[in-house]
Amino acid sequence: MSEQQTAYLNAMGIDVWLERSPSISLLQRTKVEQEQPVHTPIEEFIAESKPETNCINIESLDWPDLLSTVAECHRCELSKNRTKTIFGSGNNAASLMLIGDVPSEEDEVNGEPFAGDSGKLLTAMLKAMGFQRNDVYISNLVKCRTSENKEPSVEEVAACESYLIRQIKLIQPDLILALGSVTAQRLLKSKSTLGRLRGQLHYVEHINVPIIVSFDPAYLLRSPNEKRKAWDDLQLAMKELSTITSLKETSYSGKEMPVQESYE
Ligand code: SF4
Repeated sequence: MSEQQTAYLNAMGIDVWLERSPSISLLQRTKVEQEQPVHTPIEEFIAESKPETNCINIESLDWPDLLSTVAECHRCELSKNRTKTIFGSGNNAASLMLIGDVPSEEDEVNGEPFAGDSGKLLTAMLKAMGFQRNDVYISNLVKCRTSENKEPSVEEVAACESYLIRQIKLIQPDLILALGSVTAQRLLKSKSTLGRLRGQLHYVEHINVPIIVSFDPAYLLRSPNEKRKAWDDLQLAMKELSTITSLKETSYSGKEMPVQESYE
């Protein structure tokens, strides 16, 4: 982490604890409890990633090479049923990056993440924050759809994770919104439920960007009563972005915060 990033986080009241805990609640300034092992598939899911199995150094790829590498990728079983990879869409210099769990069939047809009804809701959520879709960058934890929108397996997530990490490094967003429990648990290396991960700012060293957790828009379509909580998450995100922008503006030209409105 650079000295400038450390200064921003200190000014935001964020304690940066490295290599002490898989995820850190920064607003509450408490460590996320290390939970007892739970014998569910998620325990397996957040197991250590497998090492790279091919010789491509993902960390050195620029944007075009990363895009073409993903498009031709056959690292995991998900390549067998896809018609195309869904790399991501939006502004690749965005201050806000949104990361969902897995592309849907509609996403594959449209060639971008969050198409269809869940995409419409996401667009409305972004509009409520004052953003157009092209103002932010939207991607997924894995770049190929799963059959019947199933959760990706441990192996599939591990195979694809380095692409997402490289995307984050190239975009260098100020903030990440993790939309869905699979993405949140993987990014934060945590076994906690989405409910426990929401409502706070997280910082983990391997991502190096503050993370806020919220619901998958597809889940919000099935559970509209949770929209109020999702709005709370978006407001937290706006607050953090505003703080970061203010800090930037004191040192060099920053990005203006958009006007806020409700999305319900
Ligand atoms: Fe490659 Fe990721 Fe698609 Fe698997 S999901 S084939 S790792 S791009």
